[in-house]
Amino acid sequence: KEMNQQKIEEFIFKSKLPNIYIPKHLPLHSYCFENLSKYGSLPCLINAPTGEIYTYYDVELTARRVASGLDKFGVRQGDVIMLLLPNCPEFVFSFLGASFRGAITTTANPFFTSAEIAKQAKGSNAKLLVTQVCYYDKVKDLDHLKLVFIDSELDSTLENHIHFRDLAQADENEMKEVNIKINPDDVVALPYSSGTTGLPKGVMLTHKGLVTSIAQQVDGENPNLYYHKEDVILCVLPMFHIYSLNSVLLCGLRAKAAILLMPKFDINAFLSHVNKYKVTIAPVVPPIVLAIAKSPDLHKYDLSSIRVLKSGGAPLGKELEDSVRAKFPKAKLGQGYGMTEAGPVLTMCLSFAKEPIDVKAGACGTVVRNAEMKIVDPENDSSLPRNQPGEICIRGDQIMKGYLNDPEATERTIDKEGWLHTGDIGYIDDDDELFIVDRLKELIKYKGFQVAPAELEAIILSHPQIYDVAVVPMKDEAAGEVPVAFVVKSNSQINTTEDEIKQFVSKQVVFYKRINRVFFIDAIPKSPSGKILRKDLRAKLAAGVPN
Ligand code: AMP
Repeated sequence: KEMNQQKIEEFIFKSKLPNIYIPKHLPLHSYCFENLSKYGSLPCLINAPTGEIYTYYDVELTARRVASGLDKFGVRQGDVIMLLLPNCPEFVFSFLGASFRGAITTTANPFFTSAEIAKQAKGSNAKLLVTQVCYYDKVKDLDHLKLVFIDSELDSTLENHIHFRDLAQADENEMKEVNIKINPDDVVALPYSSGTTGLPKGVMLTHKGLVTSIAQQVDGENPNLYYHKEDVILCVLPMFHIYSLNSVLLCGLRAKAAILLMPKFDINAFLSHVNKYKVTIAPVVPPIVLAIAKSPDLHKYDLSSIRVLKSGGAPLGKELEDSVRAKFPKAKLGQGYGMTEAGPVLTMCLSFAKEPIDVKAGACGTVVRNAEMKIVDPENDSSLPRNQPGEICIRGDQIMKGYLNDPEATERTIDKEGWLHTGDIGYIDDDDELFIVDRLKELIKYKGFQVAPAELEAIILSHPQIYDVAVVPMKDEAAGEVPVAFVVKSNSQINTTEDEIKQFVSKQVVFYKRINRVFFIDAIPKSPSGKILRKDLRAKLAAGVPN
């Protein structure tokens, strides 16, 4: 036993950079706006569709007013508010306002169906929802939820609505509980993720966790390290996902950079905004890298301001990485690796920092500072040395506190020693760089968006003519992966078609969870304990699409 313990401690990987001081006692908003008077008049948010600019003073003040407004409308410390918004200034004001209020924000994709929204609103016990009138039909039946609309014109026939103005024009000094005491372990963000198995769950990220994660990415002495105040950071990835909320918005705030908000991705708008605003940092996902690589219009724009192009959220193929690198010879291109539950950033590319550290194509960077990483053998949990693939585990203050109301799922993910098990398979090479080679967990990633097989399986199983089902990922050039279903009919005489099942699902889910193909089979392969042998089905697909 003693030998085993020694072995576990033997293969722990840390950053090449020294640990830093992290002010973990500060609430997230105080950390983001620390020493505000030194930089308050710098541009903070630029709203790309309108060109409006908000300074750091504007953003901080509006957030405090929103905190007061939330209080006025009954949001108390520890309550949850839900955002159903594309990237826009109101998203930022609401999130930070809730933080000032000591409340928690859960974020959802505005393209979700009403059923998906209702599930998250109920699961998180949200008290108030901030959204747009165009989503009214999807949210109007949500019980016990105050609805706030950000649109400047509101249809007066909409019942029970609050205008965002009413929140943001509250007197910032009026907050009843002015002396809110926020504990570093209080939850501030509640993104949803299915983790390694099962349905989407609320991931509890605390003030301390997010402060730690941001500090790991942008704090420190080296002014070249990642973001700085002269940077213009493109925020096109949706902030309802923690990658953008943390690594773009919050890191940008901490670094005092200007953050350019784009509500949706469109290659030409992307290129023209980079050109117009002299964007220096472009955090993207592999499908955007692909769109850039394939664009015939690159030469029409001056993109030379970009100094960092970083991709994360899903694997980036080596060929694609090389082809884009050739198009941006002056920019650093590298990958980061995140997982919502990990806070989310586990590794990032050190080559952003200094020459001449060069990054290898396919590498996901090195582990962040003030954290530990190990690679374990999934069979027996023993830690593995360099160059041997195993499950990637991370430990540090940045990881989630746990899943909301789900101690069992929490225990399955974070072990007794505090290691978070990612369900990803990778190895660390001789230069400390992490390479992800496979995924042990069920999760499917469509353009970086999460698709939980368990959710689709439950929907398909509710079809009266289906006896059994398994949903697995299939490789796809544009999306990375798409969900496909192996289906067993309840009776072989039944003539349910592929199209019928696809339609049945698409009515109930957001576009990226739609089933791409349905394969009818006689039985779903299962282990003796009844677990779906997803590996076998993935192997079947890898061998060629079944007829
Ligand atoms: P999410 O919680 O939505 O951020 O999804 C996290 C998962 O996305 C990880 O556990 C990985 O499976 C995958 N992922 C994120 N970044 C990368 C990357 N750079 N390369 C490969 N997979 C990634």
